[in-house]
Amino acid sequence: MKDIVVSGARPTGNLHLGNYLGAVKQFVKMQDAYTCFFFIADYHSLTTHPNPKDLHNDARTVLIEYLAAGVDPEKVTLYLQSDLPQIPELYLFLNMHAYVGELERVPTFKEKVRTQPDNVNAGLLTYPTLMAADILMHKGTKVPVGKDQEQHLEMARVFARRFNNLYGKEILPEPIAFNMGNELVKVPGLNGAGKMSKSDDGSTAIFLKDTPKELSKKIMRAVTDTGPTEPNQPKAEGVANLFTLMGYVSTPEVVAHFETEYNEMRVRYGDMKKQLAEDMANYLTPIREKIEDLSKNDAYLKKVAEDGAEKARESAKKTIDEIRSVIGFKSF
Ligand code: AMP
Repeated sequence: MKDIVVSGARPTGNLHLGNYLGAVKQFVKMQDAYTCFFFIADYHSLTTHPNPKDLHNDARTVLIEYLAAGVDPEKVTLYLQSDLPQIPELYLFLNMHAYVGELERVPTFKEKVRTQPDNVNAGLLTYPTLMAADILMHKGTKVPVGKDQEQHLEMARVFARRFNNLYGKEILPEPIAFNMGNELVKVPGLNGAGKMSKSDDGSTAIFLKDTPKELSKKIMRAVTDTGPTEPNQPKAEGVANLFTLMGYVSTPEVVAHFETEYNEMRVRYGDMKKQLAEDMANYLTPIREKIEDLSKNDAYLKKVAEDGAEKARESAKKTIDEIRSVIGFKSF
């Protein structure tokens, strides 16, 4: 059987370097090797009740930034989840065979109950069935997800298996997690701890759209320490993070130079940051320029979204017709 890759992202703001290196760059590799469906999960974002004015703009931002980062709509099916009427339909069918108990036991749901007790809506409870609908809609077999999503993917497998068993037919394949290449990257932020995240305030995440000036301002303020006090001293997390970021965007010679400076206690963090800011700007400028161009090209965005929706609906219709038929729906 041919592998089908399905992946989506909620439209919750601009893409940062972590999203790019951890996810979108992978998509760009996958698009040459597999049949891919990449979508903007705007229905998923409704669990947090976005402002109607933001809903479209946020989806537009992700569309622009995916395209700018190299996702090619000629090679993949790139679409908005809300352009597929078959998604809520499959979501309904899957919900009929999803049990409240198993949904309540999902760790991310329990976490939401704890952190936002005032907004425990049914959409949150059934998040795993909507995600399963997204994947099973195209009979996805491979899903590029991080560790945090593995439990949701397991639910998608359970729902697929249950559906197939119930109707005695192998209709829905069980999707597995996957990534192209070797290890999963974890891109650090500039705040001295943890990974780069969209919940960082804008000053510690590096966005694909950042101008050289913005990059320089953020990087110059990155958390470090007062400098090594003995040769080959282990690095504080903030310092190690700067080296990690350098590893992504600078040449090996530049990284080696600053490693030596650090190990021999001569390092000047100001110089290192200046170099990192320059290399980061060189790395991101082609993407930023494409973001700027695409932002002005509404006609092209419309065409990409419409063509993507059409291709995605064609695939979705095939699956949903098959599903309706095995469930027993017939026309009079
Ligand atoms: P999020 O923005 O957390 O919804 O993540 C969207 C995608 O980007 C997921 O595939 C994440 O695994 C990936 N991602 C987010 N932050 C990072 C990071 N700091 N390092 C690597 N990958 C990341």
